[in-house]
Amino acid sequence: MSNLTFGIIKPDAVAKGHTGKIIDRILSNGFKIRGMKLIHQTKKNAEGFYAVHAERPFFGELTEFMSSGPCVVLALEKEGAVKAWRDLMGATNPAEAAEGTLRKDFAGSIGENAVHGSDSDENAAIEIAYFFSKLELV
Ligand code: ADP
Ligand code: MG
Repeated sequence: MSNLTFGIIKPDAVAKGHTGKIIDRILSNGFKIRGMKLIHQTKKNAEGFYAVHAERPFFGELTEFMSSGPCVVLALEKEGAVKAWRDLMGATNPAEAAEGTLRKDFAGSIGENAVHGSDSDENAAIEIAYFFSKLELV
């Protein structure tokens, strides 16, 4: 099991001014931030990132949203990081997200749901490499 995962504070949460609160929750839950930057993705970049979802009906909406404004990309370290970060994020649909999770507290809808997290160690490594150069990882 790897100790790294990849996260995004999505454009909805950044636009609503929740970035600082989410970073505080990340740190107080024992994650170390190994990489972090504010970026504004192009649609093409978002399409590449979410290529696995290309056949899903919400792909256009999702990539429009992810390129609609700035987001914060994160490389996070903790033991069992992939599961720990998904547990802190909560369910994809905020209506189903448990109390105390980021999506319960900050997400507005199943599409605009405040945060992203990798779903496996393998994808965490791919996603970190998609956004960060070696120099940007400490
Ligand atoms: P997660 O982000 O929890 O891993 P998925 O990988 O299934 O969820 O989906 C990726 C992203 O696509 C979600 O976080 C959400 O932004 C969007 N999405 C998922 N399902 C829907 C849906 N039914 N309608 C609109 N957007 C969706
Ligand atoms: Mg996913």
